[in-house]
Amino acid sequence: MKVDLHCHTHYSDGKHDLSFLKARALENGLSHLAITDHDCVDALLAAESVDGPAIIPGVEISCMWENIEIHVVGLCIDARESGLSALLAEQQTSRHKRIVKIDEKLRQQGAGGLLESLSGLKAYALTRSHVADFLVENGVCVDRKKVFKRYLNKGGKAHVPAEWCSMSTAIGAIKGAGGIAILAHPGRYPLNRAKLKRLVETFRQVGGDALEASYPNIAPEMKQYLEKLGVEFSMYLSCGSDFHDAAATWTDVGKLPALSSEVAAHAVWQHPVWKARVDAI
Ligand code: AMP
Ligand code: MN
Ligand code: MN
Ligand code: MN
Repeated sequence: MKVDLHCHTHYSDGKHDLSFLKARALENGLSHLAITDHDCVDALLAAESVDGPAIIPGVEISCMWENIEIHVVGLCIDARESGLSALLAEQQTSRHKRIVKIDEKLRQQGAGGLLESLSGLKAYALTRSHVADFLVENGVCVDRKKVFKRYLNKGGKAHVPAEWCSMSTAIGAIKGAGGIAILAHPGRYPLNRAKLKRLVETFRQVGGDALEASYPNIAPEMKQYLEKLGVEFSMYLSCGSDFHDAAATWTDVGKLPALSSEVAAHAVWQHPVWKARVDAI
């Protein structure tokens, strides 16, 4: 079984469509591919069934825990469930409001035109990646990394805090849509080990099911630590490349370290929801 359970399409800030991702997954020998766009499921709603790896319907919800932005991935969701749809609509409204405020700030600094440039985009989720591309294309910064540092991150010249839902709301909506709630890329948050452990414990207490314990560039010690936490808190373990763009050579669909054999019983495909919704089909 070879899987990639975290990928983006052009419906959010990915560069490619579902057919491209499917072809890539097939080339790389995957059995399952999850589509997990930022706060939207539109790629799934638009999908036509064609040959390829099994597609796991998913989403990645931005949310807040103790003033820190956390991402929660939902897998095996019913993409049409009304509670989840309502939450995603609110999240998209927050995204739109944030982009309008970022546009105002950029305009004041002589870099107007963001909203006009975005109006031609297919994306349903307007993200800071789109702002970054706009500023790079207009020669304001040389690359995306610089844009985030100088403009978009906390303390940046066009930083606007987002109004995301709470972590428990995100988990509740995923579970309400029949899905599995997974803490995305836990090692990427600005947290020391003690606080990371508290996040995982809280995530579990409020109904979270799983942790992503494998993603590109994860330090081996972090992967080992997350696998240990998953076992300690009786959670499942997931893995995903967070693929956005084939031009970024450090990442590819399905390119990620395998979970250790010792934690095989904790793999997310052992979750009862996966067994009922994926294996039974
Ligand atoms: P948003 O959800 O709108 O805040 O946008 C966040 C997205 O921006 C993430 O999903 C990443 O794809 C991208 N991103 C965040 N930080 C960086 C960075 N430092 N360099 C490049 N891309 C980034
Ligand atoms: Mn992204
Ligand atoms: Mn993320
Ligand atoms: Mn992601």
